[in-house]
Amino acid sequence: THKFMSGLSKTSSSLVGAMDAVFTRNKIDEELYEELEDILIGADVGVDTTMEIVDRLRQEVKERRIKDPAELKPLMSEILVELLQGDDGETVVNVQEGALTIFLFVGVNGVGKTTTIGKLAHHYKQQGKKVLLAAGDTFRAGAIEQLEVWGERVGVDVIRHQAGSDPAAVMYDAVQAAKARGCDILLCDTAGRLQNKVNLMEELKKVHRVIGREVPDAPHESLLVLDATTGQNAMQQAKMFNDATNLTGIVLTKMDGTAKGGIALAIRRELEVPVKWIGLGEKMDDLQPFDAEQFVHALFG
Ligand code: GDP
Repeated sequence: THKFMSGLSKTSSSLVGAMDAVFTRNKIDEELYEELEDILIGADVGVDTTMEIVDRLRQEVKERRIKDPAELKPLMSEILVELLQGDDGETVVNVQEGALTIFLFVGVNGVGKTTTIGKLAHHYKQQGKKVLLAAGDTFRAGAIEQLEVWGERVGVDVIRHQAGSDPAAVMYDAVQAAKARGCDILLCDTAGRLQNKVNLMEELKKVHRVIGREVPDAPHESLLVLDATTGQNAMQQAKMFNDATNLTGIVLTKMDGTAKGGIALAIRRELEVPVKWIGLGEKMDDLQPFDAEQFVHALFG
């Protein structure tokens, strides 16, 4: 918890201050609601999601006959946590006990996909699981080697082909290797080039199909990696990838480097995809499972 909070300190300090200023106003009026809207929009929550949040707040204020602005703070937290949590257990990562679990990672170049895979490999290895990596980005120069560096660092093997080869073939081999070696977790990297979106989306669909053909119900998680510092751009990316692969979760990286974490709320509401992990730095340990209450607390105090 401490790590989570300090990692998000940049996010918190500015937002918490602004929020507290609203809640110490002397009455609940239009001006207060407008100020709240400005803060949320400024924090990347997005216009539609902000409107919905503030409307719900107004409604609760009316129903509960709240007069004191100080009472808005816990109410606001309640609304935000509910929005982020979604249905019960939804943010829980889907790991099969005693069987091979396959995670597919998608996202544009530079968002932190390789780093996240390395961090998760470390996470599951520490839990005593047997982990394997698949170098599915055969397009970007250096992507395979970068994954191998993480593999060495963490102490897990990487299944790779030559640069430029068919990613679906890499995945096929990786799944066979994972089965043959009795692995618990297979983490699959994919390309993130945006020069030809249609082509990339077709490639991802094919990779998805190949994995699903080899292991029923796989991939068990299709995780979109998003850079929190890119704000509304992340939203556009989320929409694009959600159309191509059925996303089961989001990894929000670089939360240590932004004063705005509200994009998590916008994505959760607009795409109905939960955030499952938060990246808080470049090191192996800088990844935390997403916790809605902690997140809201760190964001808004
Ligand atoms: P990829 O192209 O999506 O595979 O992105 P990389 O994994 O290569 O990451 C791009 C850059 O972002 C690298 O310099 C990483 O060290 C950095 N990075 C990744 N995740 C985080 C994070 O959570 N916080 C910070 N500060 N940097 C990160």
